Amino acid sequence: MFKIGLTGGIASGKSTVLTYFKDKGIPCIDADIVAREVVEPGTEGLQAIVDTFGSNVLHDDGTLNREALGAIVFHNEEKRQLLNGCLKIHIRNRILELTSQYEKANTPVLIYDIPLLIEGEWYAMMDEVWLVYVNERTQIERLMSRNGYTKEDALARINSQMRLDDKRSYADVIIDNNGTPFDLTAQLNTIWGERIESVLQK
Ligand code: ADP
Repeated sequence: MFKIGLTGGIASGKSTVLTYFKDKGIPCIDADIVAREVVEPGTEGLQAIVDTFGSNVLHDDGTLNREALGAIVFHNEEKRQLLNGCLKIHIRNRILELTSQYEKANTPVLIYDIPLLIEGEWYAMMDEVWLVYVNERTQIERLMSRNGYTKEDALARINSQMRLDDKRSYADVIIDNNGTPFDLTAQLNTIWGERIESVLQK
């Protein structure tokens, strides 16, 4: 199975790129969905959170109260690390479990949508890392228009992440999304023809 780790930065166009491949029938593991699954009621992940932060982070029905948990960790780096510590192993195990399910089903190509692909060292288990890259000016403009942020808000979000320029050296493929949607599709068509089609034909 050919494993592709797709990464980018906020508003660089990762979801847009993913839609192209999903439309072509390539399956995807979404780390954000996994992160929600591992804190569903009855999971070890939720239990670890309750053990660490207390049952006041639960709603009456036993589901996770994200607002309460967010209020605790939002401005507290130490608490945020604690939360990450509760979840990391469960997210990892679930992603590995899903991977082996796809492998058993003889899936030829699998894309991983993992925002912290580089930072979380997931890139090591990928056959290729693909980076959706934009320059900072484009990133600010797209973030402002998609989320309605001021320039300052957009910059603050961008600066809280690893710099896209620093991610470039980890990438096997750099998808340049500074151009038009048409330019992007043209690049994706080339990537499809050069890197995916041959795997699907095997
Ligand atoms: P990400 O998933 O990386 O946060 P998105 O795919 O949501 O980014 O793209 C960010 C915003 O930019 C969205 O509003 C999207 O429609 C827009 N966008 C993406 N690619 C382009 C492009 N080439 N030209 C113009 N707008 C784009």
